Amino acid sequence: MTKTKDLEEELGGRVLTEPAELLRYSADASRAKPQGLPLAVLTAHSAQDVAAGVRWAARNNVPVSVRGAGTGLAGGAVAYPQGLVISLAEMDAIVGIDPGNRLAEVHAGVITADIDAAAAEYGLMYAPDPASYRQSTIGGNIATNAGGLRCVKYGVTTDSVAGLEVVLANGETIRTGSKTRKNVVGYDLTSLFVGSEGTLGIVTGATLRLRPRPAGNAVTFRATFPSAAAAGRAVTAIMNSSVVPEVLELMDRASVEIVEKFHPTGLSTNGAAILVGQFLSLTSDVDAATAARLCREAGATDVEQAEGDVLLEARRVSGKALDARGLRASCDVAVPIARLADMFEALDKISSNENVAIPTFAHAGDGNLHPSVVIGDESPEAYAEAERILDLITDQALMLGGTISGEHGVGSLKYGSLGKQLDPAARSAHLMIKNAFDPQGILSPGRGV
Ligand SMILES: Cc1cc2nc3c(=O)[nH]c(=O)nc-3n(C[C@H](O)[C@H](O)[C@H](O)COP(=O)(O)OP(=O)(O)OC[C@H]3O[C@@H](n4cnc5c(N)ncnc54)[C@H](O)[C@@H]3O)c2cc1C
Repeated sequence: MTKTKDLEEELGGRVLTEPAELLRYSADASRAKPQGLPLAVLTAHSAQDVAAGVRWAARNNVPVSVRGAGTGLAGGAVAYPQGLVISLAEMDAIVGIDPGNRLAEVHAGVITADIDAAAAEYGLMYAPDPASYRQSTIGGNIATNAGGLRCVKYGVTTDSVAGLEVVLANGETIRTGSKTRKNVVGYDLTSLFVGSEGTLGIVTGATLRLRPRPAGNAVTFRATFPSAAAAGRAVTAIMNSSVVPEVLELMDRASVEIVEKFHPTGLSTNGAAILVGQFLSLTSDVDAATAARLCREAGATDVEQAEGDVLLEARRVSGKALDARGLRASCDVAVPIARLADMFEALDKISSNENVAIPTFAHAGDGNLHPSVVIGDESPEAYAEAERILDLITDQALMLGGTISGEHGVGSLKYGSLGKQLDPAARSAHLMIKNAFDPQGILSPGRGV
């Protein structure tokens, strides 16, 4: 009798065990490699299915990895050898939009962009928009506390989550939060589960906060700088001014060149870095003019303005373009907004000391950078060398008061670096929480915290 027979009997065709199917659910979009195939994949259709899977895993002491769309970049959804993958991707119902309370009720597997599109029918929006928002699930966004282009204005995922449905490691299902604007009853478990990367419970549903879609015309500006550090100074000036951009993204010359080869958008590669910003309000024109002035004062050689989204397209495809360029390893550091220029100077120094190109794009208004190292080949030595460079970058971000991850999470890839940021007392506080929710250690063990 196979180990998964009772699970298959309980959940029927929702349990996959064919090797080709197991392989399909084993990796995520990161460079973390699965170390072997899982025993089974549960393609859950309901919270009850998830609970049954968790109970089975607890009875059999099998590690569980949780999966949305698998676009994660931290190795958090990678299958454990002989483990159980619980996939939420088929729980993709938008239960309802409640315009009176500006809320959306959704299941965990809904694609993020679909929620925004459903809200748009009521003149509302779901604001957080990771560059992957046409592929990633809301459950994955919640588990990683994903950021996105519009997050500079509206906040990251946690700022748009009012409540959650979560299946715990003991198979019980709880609801957190409320539909009210204010609620102070009990601990803020909603915030605790947001960003917990599948280590404390499995999110099966969410109540999300919607906002009115902004009125006014979108005005986009693009500024070219002689150095990325100068662009960083412009970002600090804009974020400290009275104008609030809808989007404020940076690309250095190396990433512009890669994007233009992959998906030509007409971006010029004259400068060392470009800043692309958008304003969307009744005062867009005036705000864009203020930002343009601040860019010139910080040293921009060229500033142009355009209507609509056209200038943003290059930034939206930059991740895909870098992937198409070949093997790459990237990181996700963030620094305090006033240290952006220092971080770009440090990147230049690392690049010239180590004689390696470090194409970088950034959610600049959030101080969140994605420096990448292109890996020559798939050999372990090439990967180790890339990791060494990324470690230098991470150390530099920490020295500037930053963080090892601004939005992708710790997953398995950054697990070894946790001690760089969390001191032993803080680490042990995290582990107390983990042990309280998952004493048997079956949910995403060895990841996240
Ligand atoms: C081209 C590209 C662009 C990207 N741009 C951005 C960006 O702008 N901002 C950003 O933040 N990220 C970005 N990412 C990373 C990724 O898309 C996000 O981390 C996203 O939130 C992952 O969602 P997913 O559904 O693919 O989750 P997965 O990759 O399946 O899982 C991610 C993590 O969440 C956990 N998880 C998934 N679903 C659940 C659940 N229901 N309950 C509990 N835990 C769960 C997994 O165990 C894992 O730890 C990008 C990735 C790509 C490939």
